[in-house]
Amino acid sequence: MLPEVVLLKEIKGDDAVKLVKKCPVKVFDIEDLGNGEKRAVVNDPRSCTLCRECVMGPSEEQVRLTRVRDHFIFTIESTGPGALPPEVLFTEAVKILEEKCERVISELS
Ligand code: SF4
Repeated sequence: MLPEVVLLKEIKGDDAVKLVKKCPVKVFDIEDLGNGEKRAVVNDPRSCTLCRECVMGPSEEQVRLTRVRDHFIFTIESTGPGALPPEVLFTEAVKILEEKCERVISELS
């Protein structure tokens, strides 16, 4: 499921830098506010592995980690030259899934 990373309050200055450094996959970034101040922003939530490093210690109350329950991320790999390309594999897999769902619905009714 797609990770959702939400900052619960504005995190500025050294705290913003600390938060950015905590994340091993660089989900957070620093935004320059133009007045000499900097604040943390969520830059790449899709990369989040939900390792929970950013909610350990003093930053516990600063970040909320959840998953989007109806957004699924798939990785599709083909076996190489001569095999079906990933887009065809996906389409075929969806057809098989549809058939299985129809069979379950038919058995239930
Ligand atoms: S849970 Fe881990 S990967 Fe996700 S934002 Fe926090 S530190 Fe980064």
